[in-house]
Amino acid sequence: MALKWLFLDMNAFFASVEQQENPRLRGKPVAVVPVMSDSTCCIAASYEAKRFGIKTGTNVGEARRLCPHLILIETTSHSHYREYHNAIVNVVESCLPVTEIWSVDEMVCKLWANEKRAEDALALGQKIKSEIFRNVGEQMCCSVGLSLNPFLAKVAGELQKPNGLVALDEEDLPHRLYKLKLTDFPGINRSMEARFHAAGVRTTEHMCALSQEQMRRVWGGVMGEYWWRQLRGEYVQRPTNERRSVSHTHVMPPELRTPAGAAAVQCRLLEKAAERMRGLGFYARGMGVFARGVAHDKWENHCRFAPCADTWTLMEIMQSLFHHPFRQPKQVGVALYDLVPVKNVTGSLFDDYERRWRLSVAMDGINQRFGRHTITMASSRRAETAKEDKIAFGKIAEIV
Ligand SMILES: [Mg+2]
Repeated sequence: MALKWLFLDMNAFFASVEQQENPRLRGKPVAVVPVMSDSTCCIAASYEAKRFGIKTGTNVGEARRLCPHLILIETTSHSHYREYHNAIVNVVESCLPVTEIWSVDEMVCKLWANEKRAEDALALGQKIKSEIFRNVGEQMCCSVGLSLNPFLAKVAGELQKPNGLVALDEEDLPHRLYKLKLTDFPGINRSMEARFHAAGVRTTEHMCALSQEQMRRVWGGVMGEYWWRQLRGEYVQRPTNERRSVSHTHVMPPELRTPAGAAAVQCRLLEKAAERMRGLGFYARGMGVFARGVAHDKWENHCRFAPCADTWTLMEIMQSLFHHPFRQPKQVGVALYDLVPVKNVTGSLFDDYERRWRLSVAMDGINQRFGRHTITMASSRRAETAKEDKIAFGKIAEIV
């Protein structure tokens, strides 16, 4: 089987941008933080900081303890990440078309027919790395993975970091994956890892040996089947491409059936929907909120707006829509609809929401890696603390 996909992942993106911008930071342990507070988490750590055990998601107080001379940079005081993102996309596009942008520092490209032999694909990957180095900056390292599908190409990029260039071809599967931890795979966070552990699966080798049915059971649905097929090199069309909306609803426990409780749950549902939507690579152009009272009476409200993907703006829109219609609300829900792919959103819109979008994406990264709600908006905190185990936020209703 020939190589078909190239995946590019910038290494320590936010920290590298800071080191590129400010030569005095180069070669030093740097962590990028959303706000200057010991109680928040690092969004990114330079490789010098990683040597002290500091990673994305490390608590800032802990990071300072691990490395007393750590340099902290507040992300909100800078606005050049999008420019770097655009510059990187342009460099990649000068070598081959970008098929899909997955995040601020990740993109995937389909290889042309004449690039599918390993030596040609590796040469192309090396060219892209060198062009980024030359045209974007010498601090801007990336890992390039090449494989049979986008998923395995991303995994190939994980095999060598930083500055990796790895091809994962049919004959490498699955044994070359075995050195990866379960959580090295995109999509396996701590809670998913716990599900594998509960099924007695602790290693990648064991995961790769599971049957399709066993994978389905561990994942609790069709995702397990997608994983099984993707691990074997199959290209699985993500069922999200036709997506028109992402929605979440929740029936609240009695102690939250107050206007304030409903508002907190509504915020949590929106946070989750927005994260999911960004993960799928979309902006929303419409929002609906709805509620039901204990007497099953219904209320809903809708509005449309310019494409938007950041949690803060969406939260403001929701707050203008939601008017606490019931004294005893029983169920609330939110839908983000009329979704548009990120690549179809124009630059000026990017500019308007750049800071908020950047923070939202950074929060998603932390929550995906360390478990949901590692970082949340203060407005949804109340829903989290009230009987966490009773709130089935894992149950997602998505209308496609
Ligand atoms: Mg990265």
